[in-house]
Amino acid sequence: MKLKALNVKCSECGSQYKAGEVASGLYGEFILRSSTASSEAYLDALNDNTYEEVFSLIKTNVKMEGKRPREIADVVRKTYGIIACDPDEEGSYFCIGKFPPCPVCGSQNIDCWEAIEPSEMVDKKIPHVTHRIWSSLSGVEKERVVDEVLSKF
Ligand SMILES: [Zn+2]
Repeated sequence: MKLKALNVKCSECGSQYKAGEVASGLYGEFILRSSTASSEAYLDALNDNTYEEVFSLIKTNVKMEGKRPREIADVVRKTYGIIACDPDEEGSYFCIGKFPPCPVCGSQNIDCWEAIEPSEMVDKKIPHVTHRIWSSLSGVEKERVVDEVLSKF
């Protein structure tokens, strides 16, 4: 798939490096990254019904009482990968909104990012996220997983 290159700045050591983002910029498309090396997975949230499923389980969880819709959407983005996606080969969870590690210090925290002009495209094979574990759970088990992840969040 085609990714658009961005310049990102590491918040730990200040190095600048390139990271790929979904080129179409369409709502609901994400590249998820794990906290190890460079595992990446692609999610098309509009065509993947687990996203909606997790969203409604989080929305109805008691821990979300009194939260604004925007806060809930933020919680969904940050926890979805842990709740419903299979971890990478090393057992590390995928997260929406994570950047590739800094080539200098390995941190995944960034200070800021900017689009490269004129835009630069990278063609990369990225596997789709999988939901083998999540799909094998019953409704009650899914509620429990959501509750556990929200408690640690
Ligand atoms: Zn760094």
